[in-house]
Amino acid sequence: MLTGVCLLMSGCTQQSSAQSTQPSAAPVITAAAQSAANTERQTAVGFYFDTVVTMTLYGAEESLLDDVWAACARYESLLSKTVPGSDVDRINRSEGQPVTVDPETWTILKEAKAINESSGGAFSITIAPIVAMWDFTGGTGRMPTDEQRLAALPLVDDSQLTLGENNTVTLAPGAEIDLGGIAKGYIADKVAEIVRERCYGATISLGGNTYVVGQKPAGSLWAVGIQDPNGQTGVPLLKLSLQDGTVVTSGVYERYFILDGKRYHHILDPKTGLPADTGLMSATVVCESSMKADALATACIVLGAEEAIRLLEAEGAGGVLITYDGTLIETTGFTQTYDMQPLQ
Ligand code: AMP
Ligand code: MG
Repeated sequence: MLTGVCLLMSGCTQQSSAQSTQPSAAPVITAAAQSAANTERQTAVGFYFDTVVTMTLYGAEESLLDDVWAACARYESLLSKTVPGSDVDRINRSEGQPVTVDPETWTILKEAKAINESSGGAFSITIAPIVAMWDFTGGTGRMPTDEQRLAALPLVDDSQLTLGENNTVTLAPGAEIDLGGIAKGYIADKVAEIVRERCYGATISLGGNTYVVGQKPAGSLWAVGIQDPNGQTGVPLLKLSLQDGTVVTSGVYERYFILDGKRYHHILDPKTGLPADTGLMSATVVCESSMKADALATACIVLGAEEAIRLLEAEGAGGVLITYDGTLIETTGFTQTYDMQPLQ
């Protein structure tokens, strides 16, 4: 599994654990406090949502990792389209009947609908029936015929999903939803919430979603790498400096196959059901919520540079887009705000 965003660990000081009381969230570091703090580093990898999840914790409580994995397992059982009985599975099988979902699922659906509107339909979770017609990773190169694709297009319309009172959801018969473009962002937000009060600092990497929490032991800013879309997995092209927050990248290099020299990738244009073809290879978004950044990054690839920048700025988000020819296009002031530096 490839990740669009990677954490640059060089420069992170690894300290032995001088046992002390647990630090509070985002502590102000003095030299004395730093030497006394427990900043022992712990790294662990899990696999959820068809994605490698990498956690690095500094000075964590012993049970923290177990709690993180338990939360990931719970979110997978709620939000995965392929887990029988998940909220998404129950919605997709509801045949037009109202379904009561977990309040967290309802919250994600509400945000998905909001970004669907603000992106003019570029982000659309009802893309699911068409996503299912493609195989981007299994090696079969399966794709819909024009006839199949065009027949399914009328189902791609988020107004077919209605959110009711008391966490109820109604989806028109035949329509389906897929939270692949937003759920990982929500989970990153929640994992950040879980670890925030219980460790000194943490990095969370979940597919293209990165969240850095609290402090680096050395007290410096976190460095988050943005992958070179044409390079090897994990090889960063750019570096962002971040205090505490989230960076999300969507890229056409994450899940794709090449046929007759053409790239078929996993971000589909809801208007056509075909892989978005706007000249963008990746979109990296920074905003207060990883869930929102996740949905916005997916929308950016569909919209293309000009509309993507307009959307990000209207949403109060920052971002940098990378085109097929390697041009960088950023929201106003992005380089300065995040001290964006080239690495190659
Ligand atoms: P991301 O990696 O966050 O850009 O999300 C890509 C995933 O979201 C795909 O694998 C699909 O499951 C789903 N998806 C594809 N195209 C769209 C779209 N236009 N709007 C919303 N979700 C999409
Ligand atoms: Mg996304």
